[in-house]
Amino acid sequence: MAKELIAEPDLGFTKGLLKSGGSDLKKCYQCATCSVACKVSPDNQPYPRKEMIWAQWGLKDRLMNDPDIWLCHQCNDCSTLCPRGANPGDLMKAVRKMHIESTCWPSFLGGLVGEPSMFVVAMGIPVVVVLLLVYFFNGFDFSGPSPVNYGAFINYIPIQVIYTLALVFAVVSLVISLKRYWNSLEANNPIEVQGPRKGFVPSLIEALKEILPHTTFRDCEANNIRYAAHLLTFWGMIGLFVTTAIVAFNIDILHLKPPSQNGPGTVAIKILGNASAVAFILGLVIMTVRRLTVPDQAGSSAYFDWLFLFVILGTGITGLVTELVRWAGSVPGAYFFYMIHLMFVLALLLYLPFLKFAHLGYRTVAIAWGKSVGRNMTLATAAKYVPPAKPVEEAASE
Ligand code: SF4
Ligand code: SF4
Repeated sequence: MAKELIAEPDLGFTKGLLKSGGSDLKKCYQCATCSVACKVSPDNQPYPRKEMIWAQWGLKDRLMNDPDIWLCHQCNDCSTLCPRGANPGDLMKAVRKMHIESTCWPSFLGGLVGEPSMFVVAMGIPVVVVLLLVYFFNGFDFSGPSPVNYGAFINYIPIQVIYTLALVFAVVSLVISLKRYWNSLEANNPIEVQGPRKGFVPSLIEALKEILPHTTFRDCEANNIRYAAHLLTFWGMIGLFVTTAIVAFNIDILHLKPPSQNGPGTVAIKILGNASAVAFILGLVIMTVRRLTVPDQAGSSAYFDWLFLFVILGTGITGLVTELVRWAGSVPGAYFFYMIHLMFVLALLLYLPFLKFAHLGYRTVAIAWGKSVGRNMTLATAAKYVPPAKPVEEAASE
């Protein structure tokens, strides 16, 4: 039997969607072309047509408890085929932004990060923290020590304390937010669930098998350059994370010299770090250039998209520039860009659960929940699906 849901329109929510990138949603006349065009949408209650009408009617509760907003990979195949120019891909993106703001913990940081007028405050916090550190440890003297020794420029211990606290805060905040999302899916999802339930761990493992190689994303055919760019960024980010973890372990636990002072394993660590940085930046540059040059395929860009790209691209580029300037032999340049890099890294850590970056967690939860309730038979996978053979006795009895 269909799930009974009480509709409570919230027109303020619809206005928020219009402001966050869903400005064409009222053009939709429910033809369903988008749901047919979407290669990754399940055939039971497919998206994004239903999200369009829920958004038009201001059905905030349905959209905020909808797993499908995170199953969408923002490829915009649907938007390019919509006969009314209603841009359902942009609407899905706007709903995700509002979902992060309404689910995240603490919620005031979601508001701070999502609001353009608060940009100076949001970016001012990491800038001031790093400037205070630089002032305290060397009074803004960028001329030495030479050769470059970042640990002598700003002592590693306060850096590690502040950045570790920021990371712990980000992880705790994200875990609380994702737990809220899982609970809301369990209690209020507007999707008809079919078949037996699977446990969280097997569902998560199944989800990761899909996420790591981006297999579902690959099904978005018309805009598959975005799949390649996203894959580069995703694995570049994992490589950078592994590099940072190895360097921190070497310095803190093994008390070895850092790579900048030719500590052990320097060549391998640098190859991993630099190759990851190049993949990470290349993927982001492709996505940014497409946003600027082919917005009809890449989708419209709202403040939330640009802030994410600014922070993440700023982190990657300043890290790479710091390394290049050091190689080029400019000691003041290396320290200067190292300081800017620290500002971006702190912004990334502090705002990780509130930026678009959080899609990593929300999408994983949505896919895992989908696996747990069997909501994964897409039109594309259904075409390839071969039903399991029936046992001989069962087949004979029919
Ligand atoms: S968004 Fe466009 S394609 Fe989708 S139902 Fe509305 S009008 Fe049709
Ligand atoms: S943006 Fe792509 S994945 Fe999302 S609903 Fe449209 S076609 Fe499907």
